[in-house]
Amino acid sequence: MAQIVTRFAPSPTGHLHLGHAYSALFAEAEARSDGGRFLVRIEDIDRGRCRPEFERDMLEDLAWLGLDWEHPERRQSDHMADYEQALLRLEALGLLYPCFLSRKELNETLSAPHMAPLMGPDGPAVIDTDQLMDPDERTRRLAGGEPYALRLRMAQAIERAGSLEWLDRDRGRQVATPSIFGDVILARKDVRTSYHLAVTVDDALQGVTLVTRGEDLFQASHVHRLLQALLDLPVPDYRHHRLLTNETGQRFAKRDRAVTLRQLRGLDHTPDEVRAMIDWNG
Ligand code: GLU
Repeated sequence: MAQIVTRFAPSPTGHLHLGHAYSALFAEAEARSDGGRFLVRIEDIDRGRCRPEFERDMLEDLAWLGLDWEHPERRQSDHMADYEQALLRLEALGLLYPCFLSRKELNETLSAPHMAPLMGPDGPAVIDTDQLMDPDERTRRLAGGEPYALRLRMAQAIERAGSLEWLDRDRGRQVATPSIFGDVILARKDVRTSYHLAVTVDDALQGVTLVTRGEDLFQASHVHRLLQALLDLPVPDYRHHRLLTNETGQRFAKRDRAVTLRQLRGLDHTPDEVRAMIDWNG
């Protein structure tokens, strides 16, 4: 069997917390279990929220915890040309269209009584936002150079790709249901890529054979499987691990100022103690 390649892919929008520590250790252990390779990828496409100092601190905290990964790390913002190439390919297949609607405009339009959009994993699973904007208005915005997002024509994409499956090693074979996302955004207004596009392209370019991540991203794998089919990319296996929670049962999240590895280091905890806090004995 081919060598296992896993990755831990944090976004430098804050300091790593115990949930990240678990996720990183999980990914590394999967690779090590088979003499495989472990990578770290910096997911910094969100230029407004990412900071170089968080990136530096994150890598330092991971090394302190005892993780060992291949260098150099791939930093997404250094590889915009790869995402652009993928967009061009999808564009050539006629599967992308521009969307000018802001989140606010979209929510306002969708809250009209006759609209009842299904909720998807990323928000309302809108289909064909082209239909939601008056053509004159669209022409005016296009002429005015207003920024737009690029959305995938989901129905056509699914038709082209046909029926798809992927393997979650814990839950078994999954039939891909990317339609739950509607016309998913593949390039944001502020940056010519999106989480879904960048992750799928990177995992393929880095030769990742086993994607490990939290179960909050389980549904995202449906879209990633579709993009792999459309872009002729190899299909990795998946594992979606449990999400760690604090003593009140809430999952760790950066926005809640969850306990960070930095704080624990400051309190003189050792890496072994941190591993014990998250019941890690791998
Ligand atoms: N960057 C994502 C996060 O911080 C992880 C993406 C992934 O593992 O696919 O949640």
